[in-house]
Amino acid sequence: SGIYHSLDKLDERQKFPTRPDLDTATFVLSQFPHPHQAESQIALIDSSTNQQVTYAQLQRSIRSLASGLYHALGVRKGDVVFVLSPNSLLFSTICLAVFSIGAILTTANPLNTKSEIVKQVRDSRAKLAISAPEELHKLVPTGVPIILTSRKPNNDSLSIEELIECCDHSEFPQPKLAQSDTAAILYSSGTTGTSKGVILTHANFIAVMTLLRWSVDVTSAQNDVFLCFIPMFHIYGLAFFALGLFCSGTTTVLMQKFEFQAMLHAIKAHKVNNIPAVPPVILGLVKYTSKAGFESELSSLRRVGSGAAPLSKELGDGFRERFPWVEIRQGYGLTESCGAATFFVSDNDAKARSGSAGKVVDIETGKALPPYREGQLWLKSPTIMKGYLGNVEATSETIDSDGWLKTGDLCYIDGDGFIFIVDRIKELIKYNGYQVAPAELEAILLSHPTIIDAAVIPVEDDEAGQIPMAYVVKAVGSQLTADQVIQFVAGQVAPFKKVRRVSFTSAIPRSAAGKILRKDLVSQSKQQLISK
Ligand code: AMP
Repeated sequence: SGIYHSLDKLDERQKFPTRPDLDTATFVLSQFPHPHQAESQIALIDSSTNQQVTYAQLQRSIRSLASGLYHALGVRKGDVVFVLSPNSLLFSTICLAVFSIGAILTTANPLNTKSEIVKQVRDSRAKLAISAPEELHKLVPTGVPIILTSRKPNNDSLSIEELIECCDHSEFPQPKLAQSDTAAILYSSGTTGTSKGVILTHANFIAVMTLLRWSVDVTSAQNDVFLCFIPMFHIYGLAFFALGLFCSGTTTVLMQKFEFQAMLHAIKAHKVNNIPAVPPVILGLVKYTSKAGFESELSSLRRVGSGAAPLSKELGDGFRERFPWVEIRQGYGLTESCGAATFFVSDNDAKARSGSAGKVVDIETGKALPPYREGQLWLKSPTIMKGYLGNVEATSETIDSDGWLKTGDLCYIDGDGFIFIVDRIKELIKYNGYQVAPAELEAILLSHPTIIDAAVIPVEDDEAGQIPMAYVVKAVGSQLTADQVIQFVAGQVAPFKKVRRVSFTSAIPRSAAGKILRKDLVSQSKQQLISK
């Protein structure tokens, strides 16, 4: 499987580098603009402060921080560094410094609760944590040494800035690394169960960054201005913004988090022409067109991407109708495929196949594979994870002995090889593009003293894509209300994981083997909605 591209048109820089000892940091740094250009070419702009970072400054801070981690903190090859921070000018520096010394990166959503964070620090066996000051309290119980992303008054923890200053210009020994070494452990619930560590190698990142360059016009990329509100702790933001775009010399305007008015302001102020986004943002933009003068506000835009969740044909077409000067291209991928697995490289294809997430071709000949009946999408590529950390069973259920990754997504491929994702057959719920694992919410529900059984399923939602709904069996005589169930879960999970709808029932449908029959509950919820 792969991406349709006329192979004879491939730029030298779009070919996958096979050198076995290449690591992610060396690869990214080798793609930076030439030294004379790097001094003036802007890599990053903070949208709230307008602070700018040139490629040359970025390169220096990566080396200094790597040196600081090595000399001042004793971080070595194979040590795991836990990063808990919203998007910031330092995020890429941290990731690339960690890779430079051969250490392993693990990231988490800063919205996660203290117990979720503690669990991940333990599971990943992190040696060091790098935290935004506001999130520090979630890491304290782990006992792991903590470095702050910015100085905090009345706190004597070391900050990243201090580390960079103290080790400016000092050298560190280059670690011996192979492409097959682990670069990062990101967390995903996969097709079933709760969060698991996805082991991604340097080869995975190098391959995905090489692919991503197929979607950027390499000859004019240094004039492109991208807007980033996609969180960098997630593979989408990490592979694309924190690492990948630097291989094309573009400028990225960073937002700490998504906020619609701030996005409009940033587009205008920085003449943004490219926004990799998610479907709820596309919906927001379509709705915004009812405001007078929206054309001039958004006149700099040339391309918008959509990923992380399905973009319907209706929404894609609605967007094209209202923004005829903007190309919209959908991409598809997952943490287990190190991000983008399929996407469009031609605007015409994207338009002609609205609703499609990409294309499957024979990578040797560039020819499309024949039409397929609906089935599970399997992927095989250098971007596929090594496996789940410490979980042989989940790994062998997900990757077969020939290396095929079972995505848990139902798709079909049309006569020309374009992929259409039609449904998600795995348990995963996606709220605004964020992962919500039903098994995690079910375990919390079952811990309630008067809940006997529970199942959580997705319910379609116009704004968020999907919301989690709980079917609950309560004990005889229990006075439990739906609101109390919602509050009980909300008190224990990150806000985006909240159960948002509850239905009481007499029994949860299960198979003979005891597995929850989720599809039955999904049809039941649709019926309930119709009869309301
Ligand atoms: P994550 O590991 O958080 O990136 O989630 C990956 C999952 O998001 C995929 O397995 C799909 O279920 C869903 N997804 C990502 N991109 C798309 C897309 N373009 N269309 C439909 N579903 C998508």
